Amino acid sequence: MTKIPYRFYLTEDQIPKQWYNLRADMKEQPDPMLNPATLEPLKEEDLYPIFCKELAHQEMDSTTRYIDIPEEILEMYRVYRPSPLIRAYNLEKELKTPAKIYYKFEGNNTSGSHKLNSAIAQVYYAKKQGLTSITTETGAGQWGTALSEACAYFRLPLTVYMVKCSYDQKPYRKAVMQTFDANVVPSPSNTTDVGKKILEENPDTTGSLGCAISEAVEKATKTEGCRYVLGSVLNQVLLHQSIIGLEAKTAMEILGEYPDIVIGCAGGGSNLGGLIAPFMRDKIVDGKPVEFIAVEPASCPSLTRGKYAYDFCDTGRVTPMAKMYTLGSGFIPSANHAGGLRYHGMSPILSKLYHDGYMKAVSYEQTKVFEVATLFAKVETILPAPESSHAIKCAIDEALKCRETGEEKTILFGLTGTGYFDMAAYSAFHEGKMQDYIPTDDDLKIAFDKLPKVP
Ligand SMILES: *Cc1c(COP(=O)(O)O)cnc(C)c1O
Repeated sequence: MTKIPYRFYLTEDQIPKQWYNLRADMKEQPDPMLNPATLEPLKEEDLYPIFCKELAHQEMDSTTRYIDIPEEILEMYRVYRPSPLIRAYNLEKELKTPAKIYYKFEGNNTSGSHKLNSAIAQVYYAKKQGLTSITTETGAGQWGTALSEACAYFRLPLTVYMVKCSYDQKPYRKAVMQTFDANVVPSPSNTTDVGKKILEENPDTTGSLGCAISEAVEKATKTEGCRYVLGSVLNQVLLHQSIIGLEAKTAMEILGEYPDIVIGCAGGGSNLGGLIAPFMRDKIVDGKPVEFIAVEPASCPSLTRGKYAYDFCDTGRVTPMAKMYTLGSGFIPSANHAGGLRYHGMSPILSKLYHDGYMKAVSYEQTKVFEVATLFAKVETILPAPESSHAIKCAIDEALKCRETGEEKTILFGLTGTGYFDMAAYSAFHEGKMQDYIPTDDDLKIAFDKLPKVP
């Protein structure tokens, strides 16, 4: 290979035909999910009322290393995959860094993010089981959009509980979902008991992902033939997102490259978990010295300031409990433009890896993030999502360190999506109206004090 191209695409038949299950190679497993009533570890059957069977199975499967991707899913993957691996030559030049910067761009589909990779899989299995509808929550709107697309493709009716502040701020997201026939409900709503209760206690709330999850789970358990699907955090979602890392690793191998550092933004952890999976395998199994960095907003710092504890996955406390880095399920993060990163917890797999020292984490304030988002847009010509821009910020910081030390590190980061539905945020930034909110230790303590007591 002479010069490495700007954009590198695998061929269609180089798209991976199996997902990779990182748990099969972890030295220690994440702690099991618990039934909140009995505090007993959950069994696969306990999940059947909430999730469809195949997904419940994937959730609990910590031993099957590679899982075949069904042909029907591959057919839809081929519509928008492989995603490009891009060499950020222009950004490198701008930063005058000796580092080589690569990014895997997942924004090349209508949903504008990586979330479609798991949406397609989850809808496929629900349809195959003969379910008649599914329900979910969406924060910033990307997951709801991705799922609407997948549901329209497989013809399965969908109800989306959309966090109220996003519902009001992002009317076009709602319109896209409606284009794909989804029924979009602002959350909290009075269509569920838990929504009514949250509204009674806090009538002016602008909602949170945690509350929307509670509503969607209630809807799923009370509606015949309906199940709940979730766009992040869960083991099954990280499994589906491993396609990102598998493609990236194959592409880098063909180019004769291997990353020294892999960086991703972390909301619930699915894109990061998917991107790092095969590289983390190399670190765990072969001892490769690759470094991993999770990037989160300073307003919602689950890894950097959270506690590693059992907690509910939702505000309404209707879900099973997971051992994870959490700010407490009662923590409602302040409004932040990276809506996809506003979640109190973190994937149990990533939490475990972070706890065991396999991964680092950093956090940034949103004004700093938008500074690099606008720089990136100008030099690389892609308008990044605010969430993705957290990873850009960290990649730039690492590249600038290389400028100081002269090290020619190879940096790979995940560019999870585009920011076309975030223009209100960009406008706030341009007009100097964007503010940074960092919770105080006292703010955090309020929600920590309400963590469930698990002996
Ligand atoms: C949802 C979302 C994220 C964060 O979710 P993870 O599960 O942590 O990956 C990041 N970027 C974009 C564009 C998103 O839509």
